[in-house]
Amino acid sequence: MKNIHILATGGTISAAGSGGKTSGYYDGKFRIEELVEGVRGIGELAHLEGEQFLNISSDDITYGDWTSLVRRLHELSANPVLDGFVITHGTNTMEETAYFLNLTVKTEKPVVLTGSMRPATANSADGVQNLYEAVALAASETAYGKGVLVVFSDGIYSGDRVQKENCFRPEAFGGRDFGCIGYMQDAEPVFLQQSVKPHTVHTEFEIAENGNYPKVEIAYFYGDADARIPEFLAEGADGLVLAGAGSGLMSKGWKEGVRRIADRIPVVRTSRIGNGYVGRDLVDEELRTLAGGTLSPVKARILLSLALRKTTDREALQKLLLKY
Ligand code: ASP
Repeated sequence: MKNIHILATGGTISAAGSGGKTSGYYDGKFRIEELVEGVRGIGELAHLEGEQFLNISSDDITYGDWTSLVRRLHELSANPVLDGFVITHGTNTMEETAYFLNLTVKTEKPVVLTGSMRPATANSADGVQNLYEAVALAASETAYGKGVLVVFSDGIYSGDRVQKENCFRPEAFGGRDFGCIGYMQDAEPVFLQQSVKPHTVHTEFEIAENGNYPKVEIAYFYGDADARIPEFLAEGADGLVLAGAGSGLMSKGWKEGVRRIADRIPVVRTSRIGNGYVGRDLVDEELRTLAGGTLSPVKARILLSLALRKTTDREALQKLLLKY
């Protein structure tokens, strides 16, 4: 059997509430040993060891936590005895952690994130099956070299495309237009497709040893949005991501502000819509903005802050945004 190490970070999968209910619960009530104990058959999938790496709601995750997580994964993956890793995580920012790790962790060993939408005390607790499937996937040869993966509700998602698409129901994750890259039938992974974007050992990105990253903010556009918002957010920032309307667009008032900001710091256009592509367009010549490609606003923010550690050259940044 393979040796799998679980890093628990908190989230609803660790939560307890009143018996049977799906809402009104507190994260961080069950530690990793207790979670594993509740999963029937998990001990037949792999030799397991675990640690309580954090115990937070994922709303509180920081760049500092991501950096420590990558460091810990580097230590663990250097151990030849360990074959793969599972990270239990809150669902709210799981797509951000998955993407940060996908760009910075230097290992080909499987790294699989999972969580749950319902606390362990709910009648329909989904964490049990999600954890079972995550361990099975991390222990599978087929997950080797595929980058950071998320398993949720029997679906396998790539770290670069995964996003939370439902804030209420257990089938909470999707992979944008690309869908899931595979399914889990209990312990059996069935891969259907693979992202062509570089990941883990194939990227040019690393963590910042001092934990400091360029500061990138996100400005969310909406009808009649105050024209001062972009400049307000850009104050003291090293980069700005626009969550624009449609294909990353905005009002005349916003454009004026963005044009001024873009002379100083990179401004990336993404869409507030969860699917589609924001390619380079005339507006980028006019405003000196960069196009975010398939990246959601939160993923563009992570990519831009990692990329800004390498270069501030506009053309180079544009290439990186479309490459990832
Ligand atoms: N509060 C949770 C979190 O840590 C939500 C969840 O896990 O579903 O993101």
